[in-house]
Amino acid sequence: MSIVDFSKTPVAELYGTNSFSNALMRERLPKNIYKEITAVQAGEKELTLEVAEVVAAVMRDWAISKGASHYTHWFQPLTGLTAEKHDSFIAPTGDGKVIMEFSGKELVKGEPDASSFPSGGLRATFEARGYTAWDVTSPAFLKQDPTGTTLCIPTAFISYYGQALDKKVPLLKSIDALSKQAIRVLRALGNEVSKRVFTTVGPEQEYFLVDKTFYDQRPDLILTGRTVFGALPAKGQEMEDHYFGAIKERVAGFMRELNTELWKVGIPAKTQHNEVAPNQFEIAPVFANSSAAVDANQMVMETIRTVARRYGLEGLLHEKPFAGVNGSGKHNNWSMATDDGLNLFDPGENPESNARFLLFAAAVVEAVDRYSLLIRSSVATSANDHRLGANEAPPAIVSVFFGGPLTEIFDNIAEGKSSGKSNPGQQIKIGVSSLPSLPKDVSDRNRTSPFAFTGNKFEFRMVGSSQSIATPNTFLNVAVAQVLSEFADKLEKAANKNEAIQAIIKESYSKHRRVVFNGNNYADEWVREAERRGLPNVKNAVDALSVLIQSETVTLFENHKVFTKEELESRYHIYLEKYSKQINIEAGVTIDMARRYLFPAASGYAASLARDAAALAAIGAVSVPQEKRAKRISELAGELYDETSKLESALTEAQETGEAFAQAKAYYEKVRPGMDAVRSKADTLEKLVSKEAWPFPGYEDLLFKL
Ligand code: ADP
Ligand code: MG
Repeated sequence: MSIVDFSKTPVAELYGTNSFSNALMRERLPKNIYKEITAVQAGEKELTLEVAEVVAAVMRDWAISKGASHYTHWFQPLTGLTAEKHDSFIAPTGDGKVIMEFSGKELVKGEPDASSFPSGGLRATFEARGYTAWDVTSPAFLKQDPTGTTLCIPTAFISYYGQALDKKVPLLKSIDALSKQAIRVLRALGNEVSKRVFTTVGPEQEYFLVDKTFYDQRPDLILTGRTVFGALPAKGQEMEDHYFGAIKERVAGFMRELNTELWKVGIPAKTQHNEVAPNQFEIAPVFANSSAAVDANQMVMETIRTVARRYGLEGLLHEKPFAGVNGSGKHNNWSMATDDGLNLFDPGENPESNARFLLFAAAVVEAVDRYSLLIRSSVATSANDHRLGANEAPPAIVSVFFGGPLTEIFDNIAEGKSSGKSNPGQQIKIGVSSLPSLPKDVSDRNRTSPFAFTGNKFEFRMVGSSQSIATPNTFLNVAVAQVLSEFADKLEKAANKNEAIQAIIKESYSKHRRVVFNGNNYADEWVREAERRGLPNVKNAVDALSVLIQSETVTLFENHKVFTKEELESRYHIYLEKYSKQINIEAGVTIDMARRYLFPAASGYAASLARDAAALAAIGAVSVPQEKRAKRISELAGELYDETSKLESALTEAQETGEAFAQAKAYYEKVRPGMDAVRSKADTLEKLVSKEAWPFPGYEDLLFKL
């Protein structure tokens, strides 16, 4: 534990000390080189080796002065995790000494021997070369642990033939695509100043903490990140006494250190509080450009786990560690901003910004409606299947929340009325007759919407807690880019821009307003209503992934140069395989725990009860309850055994299914219900067998003891 005394080291001084930030580059690089770098960051120039040489030397000196001996190209393969290959700075001088070296070439390009990362067929192993390339849009940073310090350089990971083998390259391309189309729209609206549009993202990360001693006794938590067994304790989350409750000292210590570690690498972690479920927490950094935000979120997840261990805790990032208790998600707050500081979803106070806002907001509505399957697919994982559609997380139906006032404005435009004059008290006067007025606070709160407008950003709430946010943002960016490109086509041709804006919003919103829903998304009526509106409701990840290989999807991504057909196919296969693998492990653990621990424990306990009953009978003290319990437990143990055997057959069948989609389907349709059946027997047993005889710590230990 390394508690920093903030009275001696003020946060402002500590902040970013381990980040090779723009501020640091401005200070240390020659002026012209810094200018070059910012131009490369803005997408205006290509990085030259000469510039890289200078940056590398400065970066090396900085890292070495902070104690680094190694550097690594830090990248994000399609596993959804991060990967690193460490190289040391040392170079022998030939006389038994070394010098510390780091060239521009080493900064710009790496060649990890990374042939076992999933490529979905993009890369045969004989040509397994994959390259990492410096991503200048996200700052390099130092990772420190008790064994030393490593310079981490965020990189993109591509194949020898230039195909994206990671999650970062498509994201960067999607930002370019969106920028291009958004700038066209802005130009058509008369904006000659903004040069580039980028997306800003602030992910709110939920997680659980459990005591490490309990964690270590649960093979399911260790191997799968979730409990595949566990009866609900008498007390669940119904008291809601955890939500925003006082934070326990041990947890407070952990959070302070988590913040400190993140601040050092320049991640502005800001709020944290207890969540709805017991032992569930949240951390939300201030938003950043989406490239940096994606990297930062990976660091946040990693740092939660490493810091937790220093406090004898384990951080659980899984979407559903505990059945019957709220799961964890990641709210992806997303907005679009220009290089000169305009937030395109800020309703603003004057007619120009107002028109801009309405147009961009309409584009999002249309994009979410047209590409809802794609957006759904971006959060399709086996773990997230436990959340979406359950009564706690946004459902699998993608809809947009706008709130009353904004919906009224759009409704009025769609119906050809001039503006929402029904509540004049709240209106801002804007002075241009043809555009509707905007009320000051255009959105209220709705916590159940999967895609909610929240004042000056959209909050995409379907993302899973353990997921990389790269893919959801990539898909979102491309969907919106497509709609904006169509808006731009119309605007560029229009003689009267004002009329064109109105016409575009009217046409678009009339057609896509069905996706707007301001009510309770958790209610059963919504499921029926959504069906009436023709909105898709894809309940499982396997079906949700199919959209990735549909021809419209391929066309969309090819048009915007974000994915090729091969790249999409590779992802489709990797995600299906990942789905199958995940459930395969879970089912394996279920069988193992049931056979080797739970069955012996339960039947042994039943036998001991029967022996006790017999012993009592021998002295003439007949114990009817003892006998009855022994019988019931022994019956249940038998059923547990049978269900385990059935699960094993289902598992074998799934394992032997060849084709990737059919296989994932088999895991979904046969193996998952099989696991549930085993679990239901085990959880009933857990309530009947004495605590001493039960081989694993239960939910009351995991959820209430910290
Ligand atoms: P909530 O009520 O959901 O907690 P907040 O207003 O506190 O919402 O913001 C939550 C997250 O939204 C924070 O991570 C914040 O940085 C992020 N956020 C705020 N503004 C933007 C923006 N313009 N773009 C992206 N994210 C943003
Ligand atoms: Mg939120």
